[in-house]
Amino acid sequence: MRLGCRYALAMSDIDRRTFLAAGATAAVPLMLKSTPASAATTRGDWRREARRAGPVVISSGNGLPAVTRAMEELQRGADPVDAVVAGVTLVEDDPGDMSVGYGGLPNEAGVVQLDASVMHGPSHKAGAVAAIENIRNPAQVALRVMRRTDHVLIVGAGALAFAKAHGFKEENLLTERAREAWLKWKENLNTDDDWLNEEQHLERDARAEMAEQLGIPWHYGTIHCAALSSAGDVGACTTTSGLSYKIPGRVGDSPIVGAGMFVDNEVGAAGATGRGEAVIQSCGAFQTVQHMAAGLEPREACLKTLQWIADHTKRRSLLTGAGRPNFNVTMYALRKDGKWGSACMLPGGSFTLHDGTEAKRLRSTPLFE
Ligand code: ASP
Repeated sequence: MRLGCRYALAMSDIDRRTFLAAGATAAVPLMLKSTPASAATTRGDWRREARRAGPVVISSGNGLPAVTRAMEELQRGADPVDAVVAGVTLVEDDPGDMSVGYGGLPNEAGVVQLDASVMHGPSHKAGAVAAIENIRNPAQVALRVMRRTDHVLIVGAGALAFAKAHGFKEENLLTERAREAWLKWKENLNTDDDWLNEEQHLERDARAEMAEQLGIPWHYGTIHCAALSSAGDVGACTTTSGLSYKIPGRVGDSPIVGAGMFVDNEVGAAGATGRGEAVIQSCGAFQTVQHMAAGLEPREACLKTLQWIADHTKRRSLLTGAGRPNFNVTMYALRKDGKWGSACMLPGGSFTLHDGTEAKRLRSTPLFE
């Protein structure tokens, strides 16, 4: 189902409140296959309007502590990229969040491999690490890559060596809870791993179902966080342990600049969580920022990217019988004028927000019901 017909009907009260709070133009019909005429006439208008700038912080649904901490940092005058890294560090350190940092679910070999990226609006610099092991705060390492090297992305053993050179301590990131979940997964491994033969490629993806039957966690899971300072500067970060039980060395969208997060200091920031392969193949965060630059409100920009992903998902195992994606992706967007929004492919996505007065968790708008 295309967004245009589903959209108005699907708005719940919370969506409406979110929409109005974000100052979005709710009456504007969406025509996602092309630039809406309404957007064309208002293109760039938000840049000329009086700015209701930051501080504002947006994060994924697991980011309540992150937005709170990042806002404290912003209010103390911190740079937005330092603020978001301080925020996500709390979640990386939390063994209860099995999607990020310490306590994250491991790869197929039982090793926790982490990915993270950061981007700083004013300098338009980015830094990232991928498949880094034994370092619980990859977002902080990504920040060092950005600030202390001429590179953007360092992976694997090189990333670990770089982190150690900068004084990060190696430690075992596999908690007992994560190890037990992985062991159960491994003991029950059959054809439901990530290695596909040509036939399986065409079948339904049964991994989530298998995990549910076993009663163990299996997920895509990540924290994205973006901030707008009161000076109007933007910073963003995405950090993750990635897809559970992934093939060793698999890298998702989170450390890929333009996929898992992107910042244009003239426009705003965007980020993604969920099926990283889909986000990489759509340049999801970059695309979302471009949609905002073209005049779309943040939430509409997220929805347009998700529609693009849906339109370009061809593999049968990733589609429902109705031909819609069977996986979730949630997009988050924060515009330079302080407006924000989030949307998800399927119901269930959520995001957190701090507008300078309170931190709250809100429902992302689903593209498909
Ligand atoms: N996007 C992450 C990845 O694919 C996982 C997630 O956000 O759930 O590695």
